Amino acid sequence: MEKKEIYVIGAGPAGLVAAINLNREGFRVIVKERQNGVGGEPGWHPSVHTTPVAMPGLWEYIGIDLSEAFVDTSDSCRLHMGNQDMGNIDFGSLGYRVFNTERGHRPTSLDSLLFRIAEKEGVEFEFRNSLKEDDLKELVGRSILSTGLSPEMYGWLNLDSSVFAGYWAYAEIERDHVSAGTYLGSFSNEYGYSAAMNGIWYVLLFARKEVAQENLDMFKRIVEASEHRQFDKWRRFRGQTPKGPKLFHRGFILAGTLGGFVEPAFGFGITGALLSGKISAVAVSNPDKAQTEFKRFTDGVISHIARKRNPGYNPSVNMGDVWFQVE
Ligand SMILES: Cc1cc2nc3c(=O)[nH]c(=O)nc-3n(C[C@H](O)[C@H](O)[C@H](O)COP(=O)(O)OP(=O)(O)OC[C@H]3O[C@@H](n4cnc5c(N)ncnc54)[C@H](O)[C@@H]3O)c2cc1C
Repeated sequence: MEKKEIYVIGAGPAGLVAAINLNREGFRVIVKERQNGVGGEPGWHPSVHTTPVAMPGLWEYIGIDLSEAFVDTSDSCRLHMGNQDMGNIDFGSLGYRVFNTERGHRPTSLDSLLFRIAEKEGVEFEFRNSLKEDDLKELVGRSILSTGLSPEMYGWLNLDSSVFAGYWAYAEIERDHVSAGTYLGSFSNEYGYSAAMNGIWYVLLFARKEVAQENLDMFKRIVEASEHRQFDKWRRFRGQTPKGPKLFHRGFILAGTLGGFVEPAFGFGITGALLSGKISAVAVSNPDKAQTEFKRFTDGVISHIARKRNPGYNPSVNMGDVWFQVE
């Protein structure tokens, strides 16, 4: 009997986890990705991300052990408030551990590890295949959409979204250096972070509106002084994220950022993308079960996003309810 075909649009962590799981369930899985290969948007990768991971629970949940792409930074992850170094964040008392992982096209990245597993198990890939609005009609009812921050999909699907600004910097450093830092201060209404591994030092400032040059200069001075390293300049990007989480929309299944797993600081970045990839695969054969799982993980993020619209919102004290545990 011929295998039923399923399309996954976007080969980020969410799409790749979905593809591997559906392939294991016996579907013929075709991943369409607009870049030349995996590794996402070359406009801001290679990069290093920091994410809380409940191991090995997350690997059991998604059915894929990705530990080789993660390095534990729980005991060395520093918190900076303004220009004050507050010391190590006590993740143990919060009940979880944090890890760095490399993103992008290099062989050492999380993306490349997922790709190697997917390809070995028989997932098919169509690179340089950018989905267009007209293609959507043909794919209704047999596709998972996991196109991340790309703005056009929000318009095509009529999905309510918010725009944010990001400023990033990159420097090549010694390969064995691993570090992570979180930065809160008047330079942004969100937060900044730095993360290093595999010879990359990556610094990023998120914001819900454009950041003035003097604030970028201030943040650069603080990070460079704290970490005794320098970078040449800021690169800028804009991203679009949905206003709320949604698993099913107009006959499609949404995954990763597009599905509303959008709070990197507390688990809805990389960890959320991996989780949501699994949930979107379950949604193909068992929509009710997937919806229950989706709700279980996203309830916290809904109240969190609502509070972010409050002018008095302070990211340092208001994020506690967004964390989740994989049981
Ligand atoms: C600069 C930056 C730093 C971040 N730092 C952190 C961090 O420290 N910790 C953390 O947990 N999270 C972080 N995040 C968030 C994290 O990257 C995302 O949560 C995660 O990548 C979401 O995975 P995804 O699979 O949904 O989307 P993505 O990884 O964005 O993948 C989407 C894929 O879809 C492809 N695509 C887009 N449009 C089309 C189209 N029309 N046709 C075909 N393919 C298409 C893209 O090329 C891309 O490969 C960061 C994000 C950014 C941008």
